[in-house]
Amino acid sequence: MDYRKKFVVEPGKKVHLNKIDPLYTGKHESHAQAMPKIQEHLENMDKMQYLLYADGGQSLLVVLQALDAAGKDGVVRHLFSGMNPQGTSVFGFKQPSKEEAAHDFLWRAHQHAPGKGELVIFNRSHYEDVLVVRVHKLVEKGVWSKRYDLINDFEKMLSSNGTRILKFFLHISPDEQLSRFKQRLDDPARNWKISDADYSERELWPEYTQAYEDALELTSTPYAPWYVIPANHKWFRNLAISEIVADTMSEMGLKLPPAHVDMEDIRSKYHAAEEKQAGKKSGKIDVESKKNKKSKSKA
Ligand code: AMP
Ligand code: MG
Repeated sequence: MDYRKKFVVEPGKKVHLNKIDPLYTGKHESHAQAMPKIQEHLENMDKMQYLLYADGGQSLLVVLQALDAAGKDGVVRHLFSGMNPQGTSVFGFKQPSKEEAAHDFLWRAHQHAPGKGELVIFNRSHYEDVLVVRVHKLVEKGVWSKRYDLINDFEKMLSSNGTRILKFFLHISPDEQLSRFKQRLDDPARNWKISDADYSERELWPEYTQAYEDALELTSTPYAPWYVIPANHKWFRNLAISEIVADTMSEMGLKLPPAHVDMEDIRSKYHAAEEKQAGKKSGKIDVESKKNKKSKSKA
């Protein structure tokens, strides 16, 4: 199954989230059954991230957006379980600091965007500025409504500078969210994740849905597509996202760069070093065996 085709938001096409089933798992029936595929994608990602880093000419930006408890943190953990920490990082977008708020809304996104060879995950992103900011009327409509075009221009600029951009909206149902809130309540290891805002934001589900539908429609582009991922089943969410990331990376033409030294020259240096080392070793053995003989004769 090509999940990129299945879940992509066609540029400019109206999105109706209530028509997308958050329980979808396709032909897969269980986590156990999907496991070999998931494993395969993680292994491919690991190989390609090594190439991305070595190649050093391109970068990858993965944007995660969703309502509370939809699994953004889980996706970060999942994707990174298959990658080397070197060359990868995650940036979480919280309420803007004083310094961030003093700049334009794309300033912090730009600062944390991946450099060449890097893979960066945005856990929330510059999209908060057309989501929470819109829903809570933190700026006027005249301000946020202009941001969709600004975001598209920004992402186009990143893309033309060698950054592949993949954006995922994790789609869960209100009852799944509530059951995850219950887990947070019942499991002491999850208590720390609870915030008052979880419940007040939940009350604004219809407003968030509207804001998400507009953002998905207006900012899904060929150079920075949005994917709506059915996310009630965590394992399916992980399967779909790891497949889309792996498929995308495999099309980036990543390859090992040629050596930047004269290989013949280095080979002869290696052999010289090898001979020297062997000489040292045999010298050491001579000394050791003399020592041994001495101590034996003493005994
Ligand atoms: P969490 O992801 O649960 O750690 O929460 C981060 C919080 O910061 C969420 O409630 C976001 O909506 C909020 N946040 C992120 N970016 C912005 C922004 N630009 N303006 C206002 N709130 C934001
Ligand atoms: Mg939260």
